[in-house]
Amino acid sequence: MIQAENEAPVLRTFQLRNLDSMPNIDRLSDEQRFAIEVVGRVLPFKTNSYIAEQLIDWDAVPDDPMFRLTFPQQGMLHEEDFSVLAGLLKGSASADAIDDAVRRVQRSLNPHPSGQVSLNTPWLNGLPLPGMQHKYRETVLFFPSQGQTCHAYCSYCFRWPQFVNLDDLRFASKESHAVLDYLRQHPHVTDVLITGGDPLIMRTGVLRRYIEPLLAPEFEHVNIRLGTKAPAYWPYRFTTDSDADDLLRLFEEVIGARRHLALMAHYSHPRELSTAAAERALERITATGAVVRCQSPLIRQVNDSANTWAELVRRQVRAGAIPYYMFVERDTGARDFFSVPLARALEVFNGAHARVSGLSRTLRGPVMSALPGKIMVDGVAHVANEKVFVLKMLQGRNPDWVNRVFFARFDPAATWYDDLSPAFGAREFFFEPEMSAAPETGSFIDHVLGNGAQHGNGGRLDETADVEVTVLPRQPEHVDSA
Ligand code: SF4
Repeated sequence: MIQAENEAPVLRTFQLRNLDSMPNIDRLSDEQRFAIEVVGRVLPFKTNSYIAEQLIDWDAVPDDPMFRLTFPQQGMLHEEDFSVLAGLLKGSASADAIDDAVRRVQRSLNPHPSGQVSLNTPWLNGLPLPGMQHKYRETVLFFPSQGQTCHAYCSYCFRWPQFVNLDDLRFASKESHAVLDYLRQHPHVTDVLITGGDPLIMRTGVLRRYIEPLLAPEFEHVNIRLGTKAPAYWPYRFTTDSDADDLLRLFEEVIGARRHLALMAHYSHPRELSTAAAERALERITATGAVVRCQSPLIRQVNDSANTWAELVRRQVRAGAIPYYMFVERDTGARDFFSVPLARALEVFNGAHARVSGLSRTLRGPVMSALPGKIMVDGVAHVANEKVFVLKMLQGRNPDWVNRVFFARFDPAATWYDDLSPAFGAREFFFEPEMSAAPETGSFIDHVLGNGAQHGNGGRLDETADVEVTVLPRQPEHVDSA
């Protein structure tokens, strides 16, 4: 039974165009505000009233981790790029000249890493489904077109191209019937992750139109996951928003249909779990029977300490949530500013594990969501007179790779798997021959599973193609997401 809540705060978002109206903005210097203007032209910037009023410690700005979480900082751009853009903005450059310079910098920031478009786009009946991704056999990602924003933007976001009008690099689907058809033809898929952006930015009525069809008996083997940062950035989504109760009723319906519903919640810092609103949101979500699994990247100057992670996972367990993944910051956007060497990430992870009880040790990491799969840095060891990283493939594009342990030469500066070299004189990692023989056409997973007939006569989806349009014809039973 859902109990109605009382006061109902209204979400106010702040971006470059209305930053002057944000509470506490006068506590920033002119120089800091100009840096926000310059970097915010390149990388997405949006914060909100809850973050500004309840999460940020303005006495600690600019070093405050909650400030760093959503506010652009000068170091996020390479020095030369920053000074070129700053010069254009201060001078009398035309809007076109500024836009050109902004686009050039954006495209230098590796907007779509790890073969997201070319290798992950699933195909059905000879056509690509650009609003979906299928990288691992059991799990399909679906990007509903109305869920491609967030209540605020993380400064380190790995999906930042979604938010800066790099239109030719966006992926979003307006057609949920494509997911259903795809599931019918791929019975080994057991999990649908509805993601974004943040799907909980959608009104409950819209979200319902995506979820309800998945509750049909033919999909009883399918778990439903929602990738979201709403519990951290706008907990009122679950408490006092006008359709918060409807949302929780929808969760109850999913559970009532005997389905596993998992909120893949993104919490970057323990402070996000410390407010009364955040605690109440988790109470209400878990009361529906939904499971909350928590994940975040390890981010320099935001959460790069063992104490911070220990406190983060302790609070999660206390609130009835499950610590899940510590990710390594991905190879895109401002990663040079935020990334932490793998060796240091392992120290933080081990230090956090050492400080908490077994209940919190469901946290796995540090994990790179990389081109071949999810690669965990499992340890550092000395083997045959060589210091090595012990790596484990937690998830692989080829299911046969899962849980395979392999070794790389220890490199204290490496921040991503492609900085690493195989240990013991090997010339390549075990997955590289198969990766370099990736199919010309279609998704890698279909290639592995022998579903080549799905791919029709189109070539590999062009990384720069306009992928906004879903090309499947509508079916009579489609869910209209307009
Ligand atoms: S919540 Fe996720 S998708 Fe949204 S800005 Fe943060 S990292 Fe990006």
